[in-house]
Amino acid sequence: MTAAHLAGLDIGGTKLTAIVATADGDIRARVQAEAALDDGQYTQFADGTGYDGLARQATALLHQALKKAGIARVAAIGIGAAGPLAHGGILNPTNMVLPPIPDGLPTRPLYLQLVVPLEQEFAAPVRLENDCNTAVLGEVEFGVGKQTANKTSLHIVYITISTGLGAGVWSGGRVLLGKDGNAAEIGHILVRENGLRCGCGNYGCAEAYCSGRGIVHNAQTRLVRDGLPVTSVLLQPAMAGTTDKFAALEKITPPLVFAAAEAGDEIARAVIDDAIYAGGVALAAVANAYDPTVITLGGSIAINHPELCAPMETEMHRHLNVVAPEVRISPLRDRTVEYGTIVLARRTVNQVAMS
Ligand SMILES: [Zn+2]
Repeated sequence: MTAAHLAGLDIGGTKLTAIVATADGDIRARVQAEAALDDGQYTQFADGTGYDGLARQATALLHQALKKAGIARVAAIGIGAAGPLAHGGILNPTNMVLPPIPDGLPTRPLYLQLVVPLEQEFAAPVRLENDCNTAVLGEVEFGVGKQTANKTSLHIVYITISTGLGAGVWSGGRVLLGKDGNAAEIGHILVRENGLRCGCGNYGCAEAYCSGRGIVHNAQTRLVRDGLPVTSVLLQPAMAGTTDKFAALEKITPPLVFAAAEAGDEIARAVIDDAIYAGGVALAAVANAYDPTVITLGGSIAINHPELCAPMETEMHRHLNVVAPEVRISPLRDRTVEYGTIVLARRTVNQVAMS
């Protein structure tokens, strides 16, 4: 490995982070911004529509990071992004706010291009991977696997509990990938027949309960079912300055649900209990399927509410048919994907295949 510098981009639904680092994980500069994707252009592709607003913001952030680090160029760029991914970009993004698609262009499939524009701008190879696969690479090299020289002896699953619920699996020396290169889509494991509607369109998925989006939707659904009781702590802060209870419903956030549960609100408590149950069942499914030594948790919900970890682990134990894995918050906390992008960039330089 040369002493060349590498760059990474962590692209979440609401935030973008650019880093410049050495190959051994010394981060020299880090720049973060809220996603602001309106400064872009739509173009017609042979099989759909392309939009370059994300590539433009990513390019600007990476230039800022390079300037901050005092570095002119990098040997490779790794990108971890919430999927689905296709053709070097993000396909049909569901959590990103984009300007309206002009009349005459197809609305689907919609690609947010990343690889080609960034390769052209920085004259360096770019590797784009699903954020959970990226994160588990970060975990292997710089997190729980850091002290283990023989990476083929490691069996690690990384689970993110953030807007959604997903996983990356490292098993005996490689990332497990499916036929389309997907990560373990554990968010869509069925936990309740005819349960809440999930973002994927099905009902009763783990993600419909154990994710930021699921927690908010579950709280809203339970409040409506119970006739929007004004006594609920969940509605009180949101009602400030309004008497419109439905408007108040729209202001519910995961931190508000956690705070209300802490304050003894019964509806909020039930929502958190649902999240613990669904998360525990998903952990058990992962443990039974992959038999890992350790499951690490990341993502904003897990990082900000580590108290979920122990009860989810207890729930997991009720459904296990393997020796229980250790369950813990990722030692890299909210930087696991960032560290993974360094590994992606390093593998690109060294021409190591993903799986
Ligand atoms: Zn689903």
